[in-house]
Amino acid sequence: MPPALADYTTLRLGGPGARFVEVADEAAIVAAVREADADGTPLLILAGGSNLVVADAGFPGTVLRIASRGIAADGDRLTVAAGEPWDPFVARCVAEGRAGVECLAGIPGSVGATPIQNVGAYGQEVAETIVSVRAYDRERGRVEELPAEACGFRYRSSAFKRTPGRWVVLAVTYALPRQPMSRPVRYAELARALGVAEGETAPLADVREAVLALRRRKGMVLDPADPDTVSAGSFFTNPVLDPDAFAALERRFPDGTRVPRFPQPDGSLKTSAAWLIERAGFTKGHGDPATVAISAKHTLALTNRGAGTTAQLVALAREIAAGVEEAFGVALEPEPVFVGHSWA
Ligand SMILES: Cc1cc2nc3c(=O)[nH]c(=O)nc-3n(C[C@H](O)[C@H](O)[C@H](O)COP(=O)(O)OP(=O)(O)OC[C@H]3O[C@@H](n4cnc5c(N)ncnc54)[C@H](O)[C@@H]3O)c2cc1C
Repeated sequence: MPPALADYTTLRLGGPGARFVEVADEAAIVAAVREADADGTPLLILAGGSNLVVADAGFPGTVLRIASRGIAADGDRLTVAAGEPWDPFVARCVAEGRAGVECLAGIPGSVGATPIQNVGAYGQEVAETIVSVRAYDRERGRVEELPAEACGFRYRSSAFKRTPGRWVVLAVTYALPRQPMSRPVRYAELARALGVAEGETAPLADVREAVLALRRRKGMVLDPADPDTVSAGSFFTNPVLDPDAFAALERRFPDGTRVPRFPQPDGSLKTSAAWLIERAGFTKGHGDPATVAISAKHTLALTNRGAGTTAQLVALAREIAAGVEEAFGVALEPEPVFVGHSWA
């Protein structure tokens, strides 16, 4: 009997796959994918399970759990197997005095998943340090080394995420030069915590510690003792609006309330999903304390309080999205990947 995927997701939700296979090296990953593709079996690539919302009924196909390991250094470049856990890798880089991922401490999951949604936090994202991604292309049936330019990285997105299932990431190469100081700190809350101005740098270990402390306060570091961490992280991405849509949003606040805005290079404006959710009347803890609720520490995280189901979690997410749409005309999009069901 294959295991329930609830045992493999940070939300602790999801029914079983029809078949469950764990693969520990690149050749075995490629062989398992080829086998599933040869007989047309649906395939779910599962790594840390920290960005997945799996249906209660599970997944009608093979679940391939990526468990490959290995880190190879070549000067500034580190090539890391997809199955390596991400947060210990960040800790190692900081301990070795390598800059570029220090703001991404405390994010759960695997190295191989980081290019999928261009993992980011506190003003840093992996697109800034990824040199290339080695991936098996299921369309062409061959392993390719994709340079960063071919990965189509955007805010919480990539070519991998926009073409789900096409590529299986085998390894990621990052450029992480040795230097004692961080990259310039670009996130106001983090700069304040470090006592530096935005754009200044700080010792790598201090940045990592400050990020971990900020994240723990928001329940964003996995902790078995903290029920607010039984989530998939942020459930919604921050909406990116064109200038007209942003102006329409501002008109919803005739009292002159300043809507949060982060101008993007293409002229669009990113706003804050958490701010919109709070303004629409949803408070921390909203929901049912026995089943599913908004985290008591962070408005963007939806949590399984123990007896929840995926159906209940999705119903809560839809209630929140409908409330924001009605109040402000902005459609929220989920950040995690839905498996065995869909959001749209
Ligand atoms: C408490 C918490 C905090 C979080 N904070 C952040 C944050 O600050 N920033 C952020 O960006 N994310 C955050 N996340 C989301 C999540 O941790 C990241 O998206 C992470 O990269 C997912 O890694 P994973 O190994 O768990 O992937 P999984 O959840 O196992 O998979 C996610 C998706 O990637 C695919 N995938 C995984 N590995 C591969 C592979 N090798 N090849 C092809 N496809 C693959 C899966 O099929 C699935 O579609 C958070 C999650 C939690 C629970």
